[in-house]
Amino acid sequence: MNEVTKFPEMDAVFAEFAKIVGAENILRAGEPEAERLRDEHLPGYETEREPLPSGAVLPETTEQVQAIMRVATEHKVPLWTISMGRNYGYGGPSPAKHGCVTLDLRRMNKILEINEELAYAVVEPGVTPEALWAEIEKRGLALHMDSQSAPWGSLLGNAVDRGVGYSFMADRANAICGMEVVLPDGEILRTGTGALANSSTWHCYPAGFGPSVDGLFQQSNFGVVTRIGLWLIPRPDAFRHAEVYISDLSERAAFIDTLVGLRLAGIIDNGVSGGVNFGGHIEGAQGPGGGMFPPPPGVMPGMRARIGFRGTADVVSAKWQATDAAFSKLKSYSSNSHQYEAPYDYSDWTSEACLAAGIPTDRELKDWTGAHFLTFASILLPATGEAYEEMVRVVAPIFQRYGMPFAGSGFHMHSPRAIMCLIAAPLKGFPLLPPPMAAMVDNDASEQLIRDVIAEAAKHGWLEYRTGTQYMDMVRGLLDFNDNALPRLHDRLKAMFDPAGILSPGKSGIWPK
Ligand code: ADP
Repeated sequence: MNEVTKFPEMDAVFAEFAKIVGAENILRAGEPEAERLRDEHLPGYETEREPLPSGAVLPETTEQVQAIMRVATEHKVPLWTISMGRNYGYGGPSPAKHGCVTLDLRRMNKILEINEELAYAVVEPGVTPEALWAEIEKRGLALHMDSQSAPWGSLLGNAVDRGVGYSFMADRANAICGMEVVLPDGEILRTGTGALANSSTWHCYPAGFGPSVDGLFQQSNFGVVTRIGLWLIPRPDAFRHAEVYISDLSERAAFIDTLVGLRLAGIIDNGVSGGVNFGGHIEGAQGPGGGMFPPPPGVMPGMRARIGFRGTADVVSAKWQATDAAFSKLKSYSSNSHQYEAPYDYSDWTSEACLAAGIPTDRELKDWTGAHFLTFASILLPATGEAYEEMVRVVAPIFQRYGMPFAGSGFHMHSPRAIMCLIAAPLKGFPLLPPPMAAMVDNDASEQLIRDVIAEAAKHGWLEYRTGTQYMDMVRGLLDFNDNALPRLHDRLKAMFDPAGILSPGKSGIWPK
């Protein structure tokens, strides 16, 4: 690392941070451990374009976060908030601006409450799905939860960034109920009914009295969220996991319409995930690269989806029968399904069943290691087969221009009326390509390809649901209704919440003046 990236001018500020959190909870650029503050999955990693943090400060309490905000405001030092920093593909721990101090909240890892009766937990930023599940199991609580692709990431970070899960609480932002936030001036705020100091419904009823502000702190740089209530579900008497497939892509639109109809009717219960399938298990096929690489010789691509049902045993059986009957109208349909009934022995569950039920599993570890060397667009379509087909027609020629195949994308339906499609291009190091294609990978070309997809998608009315740090300015620039009224409001709110402009500059394309 060169002299510039050591940021020696920050010595006095880091000395003040050390007084707050202790010298052992400071990281400086150039120290070996500070490497984890960078994102090796950025297309611009190790180029001039990579925004390097000047170091990190790791508070353990909300009071320490307040004190850090005050020091940062006084010295006009930009902070970049992360919880665990595992939002792979969206920038990981990396800031959008060179020189930020990473506000790394991993030491705030307390599970503050688990309410078994009303099925919710209250967690700090450093609590991972694995840790919450371990606690539920240790206490023998009759609860299920929702996990995410990286069970060693942050539950809170994923939820406030409006990430997705795969189970019954897959719509993560809408599973948040009640937040505690530290504002850039150091003030603490409680949202929802938590505004009443002795509220007994803070984590039971999301709206409070008057305008609701929770959304202002999601995909946002207006505050630092220090705790959230997160809804769980009572452990169901029965759970069924099914993988549904079609082998003939000409039935793809009908396949999607069937999934959506069953989900809207309340028959399929979970946030469905799926994508192009090449038959048999191919590592990475369910990850963001699904559909990106060519099928093995002789294998025709099809499509698959992972679905789940909960309830009593007979309710779950009936939901599955209705689902199977609806899909049976498709000629190339097949399925693989298993019903589990309490008491559960989770060690018997397949990893796919765990994903559909929200039980943290590192099953995606083997698929996702290296599979993060991708850059992607994450576009929202209306949940119709017709829209998906149009997406393939629009995106395939863009891939062709870059000499790459496109067989369709992976998708998530965490929200039942929209399909979020992950359209991925490879970065150097992506292991799932045949060697001749791997040798041709060019990070700059892949980034440009994804920019072309994002721009073309917007022309069709398809917006990103979330995006990587390198694309945030671009996506914000697309929000053109009424002369960019929404981004202009974001700017006004930024100036109000954070007049010193210290918090996560560039997050969601929102920059201080
Ligand atoms: P995960 O480890 O679950 O992937 P991250 O810690 O990477 O989650 O968080 C994802 C993004 O969410 C971060 O880049 C940041 O923009 C935002 N974020 C994370 N934690 C907070 C927080 N405590 N307050 C506000 N925003 C946050």
